[in-house]
Amino acid sequence: MQRRSSSRWSKTVLTFAFVLPLACAAVADERKQLAFEVIERNAQQMTDISDALFYFGELGMQEFESTKLLKDTLTAAGFKVELGGADMPTNFWAEYGSGRPTIAIVPEVDALPGGSQPPGPYERKPLVKDGPGHMEGHNTHGGVASLAAFAVKQVMQRHNIAGTVAVSFGPAEEQIASRPYLVRAGYFKDVDAIIYLHIGDGLTTGYGLQNYAAISSIFTFQGKTAHGAVNPWDGKDAVDAVELMDIGFDKLREHLRPTYRAHRTITAGGSQPNIIADKGQIWWFVRDASMPAAKETYDKLRKIAEGAALMTGTTWDVKYAASAWPQLVSKTIAESVQKNIEMVGMPKWSEQEQQFAKDFQKAAEKPTIGLRTTPTPLGGRTQATSSNDNGDVSWVVPAGLMNFPASVPGIGYHEWKAAVTPVSSISHKGQVTGAKVLAASIIDLLTAPELLQKARAEFEVESKRTPYFSLVPPDAKPDLELNRAEMEKYRVEMRKFYLDKTPRFN
Ligand SMILES: [Zn+2]
Repeated sequence: MQRRSSSRWSKTVLTFAFVLPLACAAVADERKQLAFEVIERNAQQMTDISDALFYFGELGMQEFESTKLLKDTLTAAGFKVELGGADMPTNFWAEYGSGRPTIAIVPEVDALPGGSQPPGPYERKPLVKDGPGHMEGHNTHGGVASLAAFAVKQVMQRHNIAGTVAVSFGPAEEQIASRPYLVRAGYFKDVDAIIYLHIGDGLTTGYGLQNYAAISSIFTFQGKTAHGAVNPWDGKDAVDAVELMDIGFDKLREHLRPTYRAHRTITAGGSQPNIIADKGQIWWFVRDASMPAAKETYDKLRKIAEGAALMTGTTWDVKYAASAWPQLVSKTIAESVQKNIEMVGMPKWSEQEQQFAKDFQKAAEKPTIGLRTTPTPLGGRTQATSSNDNGDVSWVVPAGLMNFPASVPGIGYHEWKAAVTPVSSISHKGQVTGAKVLAASIIDLLTAPELLQKARAEFEVESKRTPYFSLVPPDAKPDLELNRAEMEKYRVEMRKFYLDKTPRFN
């Protein structure tokens, strides 16, 4: 087209140039605005869910009350809910909508042994002596994931958006015990992208490898008993095999990659010194920055077991306990989530909340920095050496990640202090922020096909470079006995503290 130079034409072009993107942004904003209204209107319902889960305090594979509440809430909110898939009674999958694109939220819901602690005071005072509890804050995931999904549903209905929004609460994350089974059962086959959700002390996302691969396995040696003084030459000592395996691995340590981690506990070490032990058992975790590297160490570990058995004349076997791939997070999705993080911003903390955080940090002998007030810029995260079994999901579908600011910086998880705040106003405000960022990010993934395409292309490159393989033996089944006895020991006492909540979104 010939260039025209009349001032009127230039003005028209200019007007269009500005109006078009603004119009698109306005539509997007309208959708997100609606999601935010739904979230604000239902903030109390959301924190009722999270608070109720806190007092359930259920350990992995025993999340019966928690998943029942989540099922009742999301069913009443118009979701199709399946409980008990992939041979796990507490496995939870909810969805709304139909067809593609399908975007799934992937959080966890389990508590930790010994975590019982009333909210509020930062002195050790368990609600139920030795009982389990939420000393990481997985209880907050229940409310945030449910309300974000509901807000997205409302937006899909109002704006005729096609596709499906799903929520997958995997059981027993603290023992990395379920997600590889979910992948094996095909839950993520028709999913276009997932977003991991986790409590944090900042508002943040990331990309690349976020944590470590882990393989958990239990080695058992079988020997022969004999009297330790009378005829020890007739015995075959299975605990000797355990010791030799331990020593053998220590010799190997020098020759492993600097990125490896390996730790063990002896779970059967004989009964008394004058009985040569016919059973010895040692439980190992091996980890590394990638699953192929972790697997390499694991294969060497098996050889060491074989050698230990040979040296002691015992027999050995190994039982797969659990495994996790490192979480792989898409840069494309991270950039999109980061925009929503910056749009939503941090909660407005009150002076009392800031003071509480500082006093708590001081009591815990941590830097008294208070609560964070600005979102974390993209790109500042390093690969953690811990593991989460939701990592497996990220090797079969492109993944995003979002941490929401619902805990006090410096107060580390997996100790009772982290159970002081998961039902506080700090946590509640952080949950509202988290639900908004999550809902907005899902709306982007549902409505911007180019975003999904780009994330998919990025995923293809990564997953070709390191093709996924499952560590789960074909005949392995989820361990449903996990934590059962422990949970049954405390549940009656814990029940006295249950909240009577029936959250309903509107
Ligand atoms: Zn966690």
